[in-house]
Amino acid sequence: MNDTTRNDTLAPISYEAEPYRIKAVEPIKRLTVEQRKGAIEQAGYNPVLLKSEDVYLDFFTDSGTGAMSDRQWAALMMGDEAYAGSRNFYRLENTVRRYYGYRHVVPAHQGRGAENIMSKMLIKQGDFVPGNMYFPSTRLHQELAGGTFVDIIVDEAHDAQAPGLFKGNVDIAKLSALIERVGAERIPYISLGATVNMAGGQPISMANMRAVRTLAQQHGIRVVLDACRSVENAYFVQQREEGYASKSIAEILLEMCSLTDACTMSGKKDALVNIGGWLALNEASLYEQASNLVLVYEGLHTYGGMAGRDMEAMAVGIEESVQQEHIQARVKQVEYFGHRLAACGVPVILPVGGHAVYLDAKRFLDHVPLEEFPAQRLAVELYLASGIRSVERGTLSAGRNVTTGEPNRPTLELVRLAIPRRVYTQSHFDFAVEAIASVHRRRKELRGLRLTHEPKFLRFFQARFELL
Ligand SMILES: *Cc1c(COP(=O)(O)O)cnc(C)c1O
Repeated sequence: MNDTTRNDTLAPISYEAEPYRIKAVEPIKRLTVEQRKGAIEQAGYNPVLLKSEDVYLDFFTDSGTGAMSDRQWAALMMGDEAYAGSRNFYRLENTVRRYYGYRHVVPAHQGRGAENIMSKMLIKQGDFVPGNMYFPSTRLHQELAGGTFVDIIVDEAHDAQAPGLFKGNVDIAKLSALIERVGAERIPYISLGATVNMAGGQPISMANMRAVRTLAQQHGIRVVLDACRSVENAYFVQQREEGYASKSIAEILLEMCSLTDACTMSGKKDALVNIGGWLALNEASLYEQASNLVLVYEGLHTYGGMAGRDMEAMAVGIEESVQQEHIQARVKQVEYFGHRLAACGVPVILPVGGHAVYLDAKRFLDHVPLEEFPAQRLAVELYLASGIRSVERGTLSAGRNVTTGEPNRPTLELVRLAIPRRVYTQSHFDFAVEAIASVHRRRKELRGLRLTHEPKFLRFFQARFELL
């Protein structure tokens, strides 16, 4: 099967029944329209600043928002809260070794803690770090360490309407050109995302990872995996790539990791916990550096900012994450949501990615100029109309160039509806589809936003606006 030739016609819209039943419930409520107006105004028209209690369906992120299983809750009781050498660390270390395959494991409080250490350890002032599209915290740590991020993803990834089964792939020609231009010695590593969050949760193929690996090896460059959603990526490889249909998710995940030298991981994604992360690698000398640096920024190398009980729950989460029933229901739930929206004529990125549905705000609000933050405006309207929280992924999130201070100009202007793992049911998605479709029908009434407060780092988290 070719990466780009198969047509992305929508599969029949069906819902994969959940492979679990509900044992504890958390009540949620929907405010009145008037209350929502007050809440979003107080939040400076930035859904990030809303109180969670004022939100009905929270699609802000799939990060740390999943439901733990009964086995994970039971694991919390098995915490060994010793400062040093907790048995939960060794359980976690063994589990990461078994499912991700790296030799050494360093825990961190969450993904960005691991990114900080990886970046500080590998990047020197003036280096270049190529990656298949940026992720805000990953790029920021690369820049703070003195590096310059260079996007080497395939062009289709920047086109919300382009078909393609592996829109997260690296463009090997772009990578070669960069090596040619700056020299391999100024490229400490290639940063590979799988799946690619900012491209809409699009996967990278095994064949492409192998090609990156081959080129990297020829030039003595390391490959570092951003492993947050690599289980979701493994599912897409199983479903879409020739030769993988009969392989298990665990086998595919191990093969993906074997094509890289190290990874950073946020346990808040695939690993089904509310907080936690790690970095993992194979080289003994790097492990020595990492386990020393973690002491400065996170905690001793056998806890890295996590309680013992949290490491135990994460180890169980890793085991659950690679179960076929789990990952299949997970990805298909996201697909159901996206395909139903598309069937209502709402512009969404297709094919639908692994963890989120992305609305194409450039098409949704094609009358609102980019300077007026159409995606942010759309996210505000979804909250006003229905109590749904989503997040902007476009002009606002792209931030500014660190040297010139000019706003970065991404080609994609998206609203992300990220789906927490094992949290919502089919009727929640049906409600959301109807709400979004009704905003779409009256889209021409909407005007843009003006930025009134802009923080220095990761501005999308704390920016404030007014309605135009
Ligand atoms: C969430 C995420 C991170 C950072 O992880 P945190 O746990 O939020 O610090 C890095 N990369 C990607 C792709 C992510 O989605």
